[in-house]
Amino acid sequence: MDFNHYYTNNEIETTLRGWEKTYPSLVTIQKIGESHEKNPLWLMIITNQSTGSDSDKPAVWLDANIHATELTGTTVVLYIANQLLESYGKDERITKLLDHNTYYILPRTNPDGAARAMAARPRFVRSGVRPYPFEDRQEGLHEEDIDGDGRILQMRILDPNGDWKISSLDPRLMQKRAPDEQGGKFYRMLPEGTLENFDGWNIKVAPPLEGLDFNRNFPYDWRPEESQHGAGPFPVSEPEIRAVVDFITKHPNISFAVAYHTYCAVILRPYSNKPDDQMNTDDLWVYQKVGKRGSELTGYRSVSVYHDFLYHPKEVTTGGFDDWMFDHLGVFAFTIELWDLPTAAGIKDRKFIEWFRDHPHEEDVQILKWVDEHAPEQYVPWYSFDHPQLGKVELGGWDRLYSWTNPHRSLLESEAVKNWPFALALGEMLPHLKVLELKSTPLGDDTYHINLVLENTGYLPTYTSQQGKTRNAVRPIRVELELPEGVTLVQGKARLEMGHLAGRSNKFEFTQVEAASPTDNRARAEWVVSAKRKGQLSLNIYCPRGGNLKRKIEVGCQD
Ligand SMILES: [Zn+2]
Repeated sequence: MDFNHYYTNNEIETTLRGWEKTYPSLVTIQKIGESHEKNPLWLMIITNQSTGSDSDKPAVWLDANIHATELTGTTVVLYIANQLLESYGKDERITKLLDHNTYYILPRTNPDGAARAMAARPRFVRSGVRPYPFEDRQEGLHEEDIDGDGRILQMRILDPNGDWKISSLDPRLMQKRAPDEQGGKFYRMLPEGTLENFDGWNIKVAPPLEGLDFNRNFPYDWRPEESQHGAGPFPVSEPEIRAVVDFITKHPNISFAVAYHTYCAVILRPYSNKPDDQMNTDDLWVYQKVGKRGSELTGYRSVSVYHDFLYHPKEVTTGGFDDWMFDHLGVFAFTIELWDLPTAAGIKDRKFIEWFRDHPHEEDVQILKWVDEHAPEQYVPWYSFDHPQLGKVELGGWDRLYSWTNPHRSLLESEAVKNWPFALALGEMLPHLKVLELKSTPLGDDTYHINLVLENTGYLPTYTSQQGKTRNAVRPIRVELELPEGVTLVQGKARLEMGHLAGRSNKFEFTQVEAASPTDNRARAEWVVSAKRKGQLSLNIYCPRGGNLKRKIEVGCQD
């Protein structure tokens, strides 16, 4: 396996099928749906099948590449899958993890869009390739590779009223014209592309023909086009998102989820549209704690979208994956924005979004210097080009797809290496139901006392989050007894609701002085049965998020 590599749709399928052959007891490949262009959506189900089916075990969901050009996530989740598979049976920690838990991994949510981005003559669409909201190209500039060199770069056009100039520090770079600056040589900057219905004077940037954003198409607070661009005609209108939502809602065993995007090197969490004080406080504390662990393991910062990652201070986004997962299902879901060129170049703690509006020009120079040393082909020297509509222009600047949006190939594996420990840690924080004791004690006269003690050994409670409980998204633990012939119930119920069990996540005391660790992660049930002859009592224990268990116990006389 090469992880300094961007995988095509075919390569993903070949890789997954290869793993299914090599690790038949650990990997199942499932087609969960088809894209708009009928490309398969391949999901990997990773667990030790011999210790139980995937849906009877607590689970983590990982997906990637919902946004067409954000290819890094695909390689990162393939790396994570490979680590799990290769380490099983060798590393005790991972062996135990896959014996008891499931990873659902969707390496490419958006095969149509990714194929456009990776084409010999690339096209950058946000998500889906279906024209939306209109069937035809609107008036203005459409981004494309006009000279067919396989890259979409920038165009610069000399114009006395331009807002850019050639950098005073590095003549390859462009620099913003100062507010009061006069009399220099100025440029307009535009994305490489062609113009629809150009009148010779007015250059506007057209809304994209393929205007869908799949990460606005989830059912959480979905809003129509007039209020939010790209959300589609109705929630889950797009087949890719419908497939994801269908699968996830049929798998209540999922407690953690990560959607891998690019870029900014940050772990994002809900909400996107409201402040932290509107989230259940206990859930907020868990989100912060898990996010902080993520920061320690990845080196990325961990923030709320609403507080630290809004594209515009007064505009919020809705209909996103993580908000839906948390708000409707009570799943702790994160969006990880992989990779960050400024951070790689040594610019620390920049303001994620504000930085793009304003930052010292010296930082652009610092970034280009770093690129010169690591992957110089990411920045293309300006060259002259006869534009079919604009006449003489220059093309050059950033090869955005493999510099800003994604790392250069040679830097890809190191991004995956950073992210693997957090994906592993999430599996180790899942709720996990265990039978602490199951014992039958003879009481005389062919009656037996059955004692069952269950324990949640996980960090999360069996309801995952207060939100999950409030939404009734997680059914409490229940036990069903199956009595063999000749055995009858004297005391207790054959179908017993046992409520939920806490984990360690609700224990917030941070000083030893105040410490209290009650056994709120345990529950006990008792029955008395009458057994005229020897038989086996079956207990089916259902705990959707902590795992379903089956146990048997002997009752009745030995003779
Ligand atoms: Zn994205």
